[in-house]
Amino acid sequence: MDKRVERQKPDIARRYAAMTHDLQWDTSYQPVEKIFPFARYEGLRVHDWKQWEDAFHMTLDVWWRQQGEKEKRLYAVMDAYAQNNGQLGVSDARYVNMVKLLLQSFGQLNATLHRALAHAARNLPGDALRIAVQLQAAETLRHAQLDTHAASIYNKYFNGLHQAPRWFEQAWYLAPVKSFADDAATAGPFELVVAVGFGFDALLSDLLYVPVMSAAAHNGDLSLVSASFSAHADTARHKSLGIAAVKFLLQQDPANRATIQRWVDKWFWRSFRLMPLVAMMQDYLQPKRTVSWKEAWTAFVEAPANELFAELAPLGLNEPAGWEAACDAREHLSHQAWNAFYGHADALAFHTWVPLPAELDWLDRKYPDSFDRWYRPRLAHYAQREAAGRPYRNRALPMQCQVCQQPMIFTEPGSPRWIAYRETQHDGESFHFCSDPCRSIFSAEPGKYVQARLPSHEILRAQHEGRADPGASDPLQASLAGCGIVAGRDTGGFATSEDAMNFETWGGGQDMKEAQL
Ligand code: ZN
Repeated sequence: MDKRVERQKPDIARRYAAMTHDLQWDTSYQPVEKIFPFARYEGLRVHDWKQWEDAFHMTLDVWWRQQGEKEKRLYAVMDAYAQNNGQLGVSDARYVNMVKLLLQSFGQLNATLHRALAHAARNLPGDALRIAVQLQAAETLRHAQLDTHAASIYNKYFNGLHQAPRWFEQAWYLAPVKSFADDAATAGPFELVVAVGFGFDALLSDLLYVPVMSAAAHNGDLSLVSASFSAHADTARHKSLGIAAVKFLLQQDPANRATIQRWVDKWFWRSFRLMPLVAMMQDYLQPKRTVSWKEAWTAFVEAPANELFAELAPLGLNEPAGWEAACDAREHLSHQAWNAFYGHADALAFHTWVPLPAELDWLDRKYPDSFDRWYRPRLAHYAQREAAGRPYRNRALPMQCQVCQQPMIFTEPGSPRWIAYRETQHDGESFHFCSDPCRSIFSAEPGKYVQARLPSHEILRAQHEGRADPGASDPLQASLAGCGIVAGRDTGGFATSEDAMNFETWGGGQDMKEAQL
C-alpha cells in the first residue's frame, strides 16, 4: 500500500514571502513610474525592496481571522455593559468628559488617518511594505469605530458627544489634531509612514493607550477598556512597522539620512503637540487616578525612546530636535493645558472644573517640584471665584501657533514664568509659533504652512471683514455657532451642568460611593 504523503506547511518566513514579495510582478505595457507616480517625489533611494520585512510576518488571511476573533470578544463586552446600565457605574460623571475629549480628538484622528494610510498604501512601490500599510489603514479605521461604539452608550445620557466629527473639522481646540492629520495626509507616502508609524506610534502611542486603558478600568468603564485593549494589540504592530520603516530607509542609502532626520524631528514634535490633551486626561479628567502624566511620560516614552535612539545612532539618526524641550515639559504640560481649558470652559464641548482638595494634594505628591509653586495658587483662586458664584471665564479666543495650531500657552523650556513665543516673516507677512521646533517646521516648508486654516483667527477675520454671523455677539459665541456646540449644555463648568444633575438624579456612581465608605 502506498504511504500517504503529508503536505508540509510552509514555515512562517516562506509563507510571508509567498503572500507579499511574490505577489509583485513587473509591468509590461506601462512604465513602473506611471504606476507609482509618488515613488520618487520625496527623493528617497531604495535599491532592494526584498529587504523589507514585517517583524510580525502579517499576511491578509491571518489578519482577517485575528480581527474577527477580536471583534466577537469586544462586542460581547460592550453589549453586556450597555444592558447593565454601565453608564451609571462609572466613578462619577466627570469621567465621561475624558471619553468626550477622546472621541472628539483621537477617535476622529483615526478616522482621518485611515484615508491617508490607504492612499500611501496604493502609492508605495514596495510590495510587502504596501501590504503592511494597507493593513494599518484598515486597523486605523477600526480604531475610530471602536472608540465611537465604546462611547455610544454615553451619547444617550450625556451632552458633548452628539457631533464629534463636525467639531473636529471646525472647533479651535481640536485644530491641533485635525491639522496633524491634514499635514500627514498631504505628505508623500514615505513621509506619512514615518509620521504615523514612527513619530506618533513608535514614540508616543503607548502614552495614549496604556494609561487610558488603566484609567477606564479604574473608573468602571469596561466598554472603553475593552476597546482600548483591542486597539492596542494592533498598535504594537504599528510601532514595529514605523521603526522598521525608518531603519530600512536609513540602511538602503546614506543619502536618505538628512530627509529621514528632518521627518523624525518634525513628526516627533507634531505628535508631542497632541499630548496636552492626553496629559489633561491623565492628571485632571480622571476622577479616580492611576499614574500621573509625568510618571507615564518617564515610563512609556523617555526610557524606551532613549533605548531606541541608541539603537538608531549607528545608522546615523540623532534624537529628535525637540526631545529635550519635550522632556522638560513633563513637569508642566498637564497643568498649563488644564489652566487654558478651564478658562475656556464656555468654548468647549466638554466640562471642566477645579480639582477637589484631595485631588490637589495628589497632584502635589506627583509634582513636588512644580505644582505647589506654579499651579496650585491659580487653581485655589479659581475655586474661590467659583465659591463666590463668579467663576473665571476667558471670553477671548486664543492665538494659535501657525504650525501645531495649539494656543500659545506653553512656557520656555526651563523658565515656567515665560510664555514661549516665536515669530518669523515670510513674503511680507508675520507668522507666530509656540516653540523653536514649530518655527523650524515652518521654515522648511513655508509654502505649505502659510495655507493653514486657524479656526480662531478665521473667526476674528470674519468679524473684521463684516462676514460674521449676526446672531453671534462676540468671537466666542461665533466659534460655537459655527460648529454646532450648544452653549450651556455641551459647554461650561461641570458643577452646574446637566450632566452632573442628571447623574445625581439617576443615582449614578453608587458602587464607587459605597466602596469609599
Ligand atoms: Zn506650535
